[in-house]
Amino acid sequence: MVKKILIQILLLVTSLVASGQIIPTPRSMERKEGAFVWDRPARVVNNLKDPRFDSVKEYVSLLPDSLVTASKKNNVPTIRLVQGKVDEFAGDEAYELDVKPEGVEIKAGSPAGLFYGIQTLLRLREISRDRTIGCLTIKDSPAFGYRGFMLDVSRHFFPKEFIFKQIDLLSSIKVNVLHLHLVDTGGWRIEIKKYPQLTSGTAWRTHSDWREWNKAGGNFIPRDEGGYGGYYTQDDIKDIIKYASLHQMEVIPEIDMPGHSSEVLAVMPSLRCDGHTSKWTAEMCLGNEQTYRFCEDVLDEVISLFPSRYIHIGGDECGIQAWSGCSRCKALMEREGISGPDRLQSYFTKRIGEYVHKRGKTIIGWDEMLDEDLTPDAVIMSWHEDPEGRDKIIRQGHPMILSSEGHFYLDYYQDYPLVEPVCFGGYTPLRKTYQFDPYEGLTGDTALVRGLQCNLWTEAVETPEHAERMIYPRILAMAQISWSGAEHKDYEEFISRVKAYGSDMARHGYHPFDISEEFGPRPGSNVTVSSLSRGKAVSYLKPWSGNFPATGESTLTDGIIGDWGMNGMRWQGFDAVMDVTVDLGEPMDIHSIQTSFMRNSFTSMLLPERYEIQVSDDGDSFSTLYSLDFKAKDTREYCIENFGWSGRGKTRFVRVTASHPSGWCWLMCDEIIIR
Ligand SMILES: [Zn+2]
Repeated sequence: MVKKILIQILLLVTSLVASGQIIPTPRSMERKEGAFVWDRPARVVNNLKDPRFDSVKEYVSLLPDSLVTASKKNNVPTIRLVQGKVDEFAGDEAYELDVKPEGVEIKAGSPAGLFYGIQTLLRLREISRDRTIGCLTIKDSPAFGYRGFMLDVSRHFFPKEFIFKQIDLLSSIKVNVLHLHLVDTGGWRIEIKKYPQLTSGTAWRTHSDWREWNKAGGNFIPRDEGGYGGYYTQDDIKDIIKYASLHQMEVIPEIDMPGHSSEVLAVMPSLRCDGHTSKWTAEMCLGNEQTYRFCEDVLDEVISLFPSRYIHIGGDECGIQAWSGCSRCKALMEREGISGPDRLQSYFTKRIGEYVHKRGKTIIGWDEMLDEDLTPDAVIMSWHEDPEGRDKIIRQGHPMILSSEGHFYLDYYQDYPLVEPVCFGGYTPLRKTYQFDPYEGLTGDTALVRGLQCNLWTEAVETPEHAERMIYPRILAMAQISWSGAEHKDYEEFISRVKAYGSDMARHGYHPFDISEEFGPRPGSNVTVSSLSRGKAVSYLKPWSGNFPATGESTLTDGIIGDWGMNGMRWQGFDAVMDVTVDLGEPMDIHSIQTSFMRNSFTSMLLPERYEIQVSDDGDSFSTLYSLDFKAKDTREYCIENFGWSGRGKTRFVRVTASHPSGWCWLMCDEIIIR
């Protein structure tokens, strides 16, 4: 009897541990007595007559021999896959999982539901002791239908085998969309039969390292001359789509247009605006009918390859400089009554959107695509860290996918930059991704929020190992919120599950960042410090950079110290020159004036080389209190350096100027602390 009780306690503990280690958390889980022992390959039986379920049967047949067997012997563990009705309000991907001593049953109305039931079961086995899974019933379904991951294969190319490996893991945490950013400045990565010059001419380049390549002029060279890169043939694309569909993932292609297209212009110079021969010009000429023909031809091939209901057409970060001075663009504006070059993209998007729509697909584009003329079913993928902008998208009635830069950009630092590989300038630790609130600031119809997505841009990410370090574990937080919802959060509980996942991932040959070694936020950041300058007015003799406004004119005296990255609204950026004056309101005794600057040379954020503090009682005539010609001793990619003065003085106005002679960089400052 005692032994039986002990076994039951052990099983209860096992199932408690088990439930605590599933990401994303199932919607409901009821533990029961007894256990299912899956210590030998299991026989999988099913009632799946509907051909829609063939993908599930094929997936099961590909599971390793250590897990499943075709043996019909009676003494093997049994798993039943059942097509059947589950909670009718739970949506397409719902499933029920029933673990009993005599066998497991997974029931769902859709292939995706069955697949996710299998994933939960596989996870339960992975974390079980002695392959013994405590009996339980799980009823599960996702909060959001869209749970995505974007991989930028243009800045660095990743072979299809790498993608297969990520699909294995991503689908196991119930991510259901793979968005491939296939074309951009770094190279065109998809075979287009009508325009072979796209890949032959831009899929290989002179340098693998992004910055070295840019410094050397950004040139493409043929593969057989030692070029670095690669592309997917149409057969490769079919392989990726097939593999993804076996894992219930939709593959969405992105053909970024009409900007981010310098690689297209490199091999199709006739699509340039006239007078714009610079290889850094990234916008195709919108006054040239050939541009539309080219985009439509490419989309024809892409649409015939990808079964996805969506085609992503990018649309981000278009400059209007080339269009402004181009005779063909001007002629188009006159012909069509377009009010200015800033309205040309809207015209282009409308035409392309209608073209895609006629072929039975829906367009997705980044925030910049939003426009009152946009076709109503178009989906906006919102990367801007801007709740008001997101609200505007849904108030205009567009479905929205949230991939907010500050929470879901995986190319940003996830820990103390000096112990991390070089990154783009942001800081997005796991905690921040986890804390994302999909509904923040939304007043429109929140049903238009279709889901979430993590994006891995790869300028600084060259190797598969590095890519995996950036993806995992942060994407677990996105998976958790998008499947289980954002209502009930407990970071300490979540991170304990993440740690368990991390060691399992490493055991399976992945390279996640080890969250148990996390250094954490910048000491003293994001808390308020007291000073004489806090809350005081700042006047800008040169405006801050439009790229890094932070919180505007209150940034430098809000009393809040910045974190490791430029994406937390704490660091204000200046185009090579910062020149600001703090008005203390009345003359005050001072003994210290301190400012910090952040360097991230990968993203052209540098330290000032000239720094000066001047003081004044009337705000007109200033005298120099302190000046410095600075040559950094620390030459690392990243650092935060303090500049300042201490002594004795009395003043009302404090003017701080800092500059870098290159004229082509940002100076990043978080706070002016006067005491
Ligand atoms: Zn033009």
